[in-house]
Amino acid sequence: MKTFNKPFTQQETIPEAGIAAAIEVMRSGRLHRYNTLPGEKSETDLLELAFAEYQGVPYCLACSSCGYALHVAMRAAGVQTGDKVLCNAFTLAPVPGAIHNSGAVPVLVDVANDFCIDLDDLEAKAKSSGAKFFMLSHMRGHLADMDRVMAICEQYGLFLIEDCAHTMGASWKGQKSGTFGDIACFSAQTYKHINSGEGGFLTTRHPDVIAKAIMYSGSYMLYDKHCAAPPKEAFDQVRYDTPNYSGRMDNLRAAILRPQVADLDTQCDRWNQRYRLVEKSLRSGCDIYIPVRPPEEDYVGSSIQFSLPAFSQEQLAKVVKLCIERGVMLKWFGDSVPKDYTSRYDSWKYIDDLPQLPKTEKILSTLLDMRIPLTFSEEDCALVAQIIIDVVEECRA
Ligand SMILES: *Cc1c(COP(=O)(O)O)cnc(C)c1O
Repeated sequence: MKTFNKPFTQQETIPEAGIAAAIEVMRSGRLHRYNTLPGEKSETDLLELAFAEYQGVPYCLACSSCGYALHVAMRAAGVQTGDKVLCNAFTLAPVPGAIHNSGAVPVLVDVANDFCIDLDDLEAKAKSSGAKFFMLSHMRGHLADMDRVMAICEQYGLFLIEDCAHTMGASWKGQKSGTFGDIACFSAQTYKHINSGEGGFLTTRHPDVIAKAIMYSGSYMLYDKHCAAPPKEAFDQVRYDTPNYSGRMDNLRAAILRPQVADLDTQCDRWNQRYRLVEKSLRSGCDIYIPVRPPEEDYVGSSIQFSLPAFSQEQLAKVVKLCIERGVMLKWFGDSVPKDYTSRYDSWKYIDDLPQLPKTEKILSTLLDMRIPLTFSEEDCALVAQIIIDVVEECRA
């Protein structure tokens, strides 16, 4: 019986250039982003400039996490207590958490068969809820039809915040994920596409939004030190109206991240090589459903999702168990008990009037997820896929 023995949570080491830059920061003793010599740009400033350039947007704020960025995005968008915010029912817990943190109420939108947000349900709920904000999670790297998303936003006057935690480096029709909406948020947490342990970005084209975000992030009155930011005048009023929700990036993390931003596209290609190998192999297995991804989408295959629509819940549980016994870590998003980093929407019981979403439950009930770390070789990927195929075969009725 084939088994696999590498961890699914092991990332690659930090690039040497990042380690060297981090040591330099530690030697300088100037770890705080505003602790600069006259005329010096801090590592955090340089990182923001690099990421803004990568995204092709004028403004970028580096901060303590993506969840933090999402919360600040809500606030900078002008969300008020009790406002409704459309968001995916199929996402990770920091997304509804950020909405809740801003005092707003999530309006959960179904998942569709392609594992993207259900755009028919989005349209219906935009209409029925009267929500003016939409936090779109490109969950597990799947980009919904962005042309239709934007048409819906236009029609219902929705302020769009993109959660790009899984789509850093991805694009739709050649346009980068995160440049469609009004604000985008990214993660630099260990299991995303760049790794500083914790960290996040908020990007936008709106000068008023970034000015508020910078103030929220804990700039005190040092906002004019920011480089990927509008001129001082943008802060004239904002600095009086915006509370400090301290959540800054520091120079040590920024130093670790800067070379990773430079390498991002290369890393994305390496992920996709592995993803395509696993995908091709899984497609040859019986009962395994993987939606065909649209040609408009340039994804980053840092994880793979597939489902076993013909399988019962008992069979699903058995597949997960047997795979784990053979060293293949699958996550089951439909599990009724929240586990590890997955939780089904109905476990977010703090949401008022939590709806029942039978379509989402049905799709999630057979949906499985697997990380594809870059520490796996192509042979590793082939073996992992073969184990899944064998286990699925074994669990068929
Ligand atoms: C990880 C993640 C976040 C939050 O990122 P942190 O940097 O860990 O706060 C938000 N959305 C999704 C979809 C994520 O996977």
